[in-house]
Amino acid sequence: MKRPIPMKTIGILGGMSDQATAEYYRMINEAVNQRLGGWDIAETLIQGVNFGNIEYFVRNNKWREARQYLEKKAIGAQNGGADILLCVSNTMHRVLDNISNIVDIPFIHIVDPTGEAIAKKGLSKVGLIGTRPVMQASFIIDRYRGHFDIEIVTPNEKDQTLIDQIIFNELVKGKIKESSRQFYVEVCHRLRDMGAQGIILGCTEIFLLIGQADMPDFPIFNTAELHVRAAVDMALAANV
Ligand code: GLU
Repeated sequence: MKRPIPMKTIGILGGMSDQATAEYYRMINEAVNQRLGGWDIAETLIQGVNFGNIEYFVRNNKWREARQYLEKKAIGAQNGGADILLCVSNTMHRVLDNISNIVDIPFIHIVDPTGEAIAKKGLSKVGLIGTRPVMQASFIIDRYRGHFDIEIVTPNEKDQTLIDQIIFNELVKGKIKESSRQFYVEVCHRLRDMGAQGIILGCTEIFLLIGQADMPDFPIFNTAELHVRAAVDMALAANV
């Protein structure tokens, strides 16, 4: 085999959170190794941001500042040699709607691989859990609807508040609690009662807490895992 093996460098806008970023790095390497075998892993560039800044921007609705901060980091990733760009936060996609005009490298929107997976399964109505901006604002929900014809069901206000608190106070800090796992599973059941045919883990740390084993007969769509798979497909496109 010709060495170095041709592959694209996956640029990861990370740090949102570091927990999710570590999982992305692990899953990307695992997926490449599954495909190529031996000692091969991915070529990556992690452009990690300070989550303290992100938490401040999100909680104080400083979206303009967040946009400037992340656009600058995206340019940094491109200048550093990334050929593909991903952002590990569903939430921060809110400010990345114009990113294709800022960088020249392809940007894989986190909704798209999940939307494709849901559509492939023939589902038309699914539940969505994530941070408050993800569940409440239109930037994620409208993309599922507009690009994939998928109707989104969201938890009630009280559940949304607790889901968000668990993300920020526990999951992004690597804390996994049994009581939180039970609560998330209960929320998923409530969404199912509202007509959801499956559930989107619309926050890239949630799969650390719940997974398919918690609800064996209710399809779970993990945005992090599907995002990683799409990036690896693109990175290895020259090899298939
Ligand atoms: N990783 C998260 C997400 O997928 C939440 C943390 C953040 O606010 O960026 O939305």
